[in-house]
Amino acid sequence: MKKTIAIVGAGTAGVTMAAQLLRKAPYLKDEIVIIDPSDKHYYQPFFTLVGGGDSKLEDNVRPQAEVVPEGALLLQEAVTTFKPDTNQIETNKGTVITYDYLMVAAGIQLDWGKVKGLKETLGKNGVCSNYHQDYVESTWEAMKAVNGGRAIFTQPSTPVKCAGAPQKIMYLADEHFRRVGVRDKTKVEFISGMDDLFPVKRYYPILKKLVADKGIGETYFMDLVEVDGNAKKATFKHVKTGETITREFDMLHVTPPMSAPDFIKKSPIANEAGWVDLDMHTLRHTKYENIFGAGDCTSLPTSRTGAAIRKQAPVAVDNLLAHMNKKEMTASYDGYSSCPVVTGYSTVMLAEFVYGYEAKESFPIDQRKHRHSMHMLKKNVLPMMYWNGMLKGTM
Ligand SMILES: Cc1cc2nc3c(=O)[nH]c(=O)nc-3n(C[C@H](O)[C@H](O)[C@H](O)COP(=O)(O)OP(=O)(O)OC[C@H]3O[C@@H](n4cnc5c(N)ncnc54)[C@H](O)[C@@H]3O)c2cc1C
Repeated sequence: MKKTIAIVGAGTAGVTMAAQLLRKAPYLKDEIVIIDPSDKHYYQPFFTLVGGGDSKLEDNVRPQAEVVPEGALLLQEAVTTFKPDTNQIETNKGTVITYDYLMVAAGIQLDWGKVKGLKETLGKNGVCSNYHQDYVESTWEAMKAVNGGRAIFTQPSTPVKCAGAPQKIMYLADEHFRRVGVRDKTKVEFISGMDDLFPVKRYYPILKKLVADKGIGETYFMDLVEVDGNAKKATFKHVKTGETITREFDMLHVTPPMSAPDFIKKSPIANEAGWVDLDMHTLRHTKYENIFGAGDCTSLPTSRTGAAIRKQAPVAVDNLLAHMNKKEMTASYDGYSSCPVVTGYSTVMLAEFVYGYEAKESFPIDQRKHRHSMHMLKKNVLPMMYWNGMLKGTM
């Protein structure tokens, strides 16, 4: 197959870029192929609410074929090989696609297997995770089953998508435990492989105070390495000293270690750490002029979120079109990312920042406050913007 543009991945970044390309350059109609093995497209930012029992999984999913824009061909196969020197990619079904330009948007890989015993017990024994559609509903089940004891929320030391999500579900669980009257007999603990709670200075003190006010325990530099579901024990390893600790739990919400997808890691388009190696401002590949990318699989040194992609996609698209039309690439990405930190069932603190974790806010109010208005934005406005704006290429 030969197409002008091949896009790897039809998630948030892939569909947004395809839709923008077709709006900005209608002459590309039928000249774009978007390759993705999945037949469903999920609105992942709502997985926090699904896990907290505040939204239904079925309300946050659409058939993949429905979200891919008209004028782009959806090929439901998985890319296995990049051959950037001959402008080709290959799929698991043996299809060879030759392209003039390539956009890579294959998301981040969840490395469940790196935690011993996790796969065997995930979704049962109080072990749950908001990070995958197959397990997100088990979080609410695990929360409802808690009747005292210990609820642990983990975050790995690796990069993750939405670095605020490991703590958001903890705040919902804390509020739920209070509502049903079990909080005073339940220890809530955040055990993280990171060095602290949140990297953006402007919001850090507010979140630290929130955790302290809620009486949540904090442990850092500790990665979850083993789960024994039957015995309800979790083992953590210090990222520097290697020392281990084991904790009993009644509920264990796991944010798994993550990395670049294996098929990217082993390819010539990856940097040493395995991510698609992009210039941090133009979003063009550092070595291959006809390759661009966006989203969680890239080397961009910012927080991996859908909000970041809303700002990355127009830059990647405008620069690709400029390059294609032999014009100067003028679009530049400043590292914008945002995290609506769900601090309870009716409050959100909207953190917004750029490269260097410098705050860059959109609203003329003190965004450090957790507010009901920001919760309305998260719950009612952002999903509409996603399905009807971003994925249609209009924002
Ligand atoms: C619990 C949770 C809470 C979150 N909360 C927020 C939030 O509040 N705000 C926010 O902005 N973001 C949030 N996010 C993050 C956001 O959802 C992601 O950053 C965003 O979806 C990433 O988009 P992407 O296109 O890079 O990857 P994805 O949307 O994950 O898409 C990647 C696509 O690539 C496909 N793919 C994989 N392998 C291959 C292959 N070999 N060949 C072809 N295709 C392939 C996959 O099937 C998938 O469709 C959250 C995520 C989670 C899990």
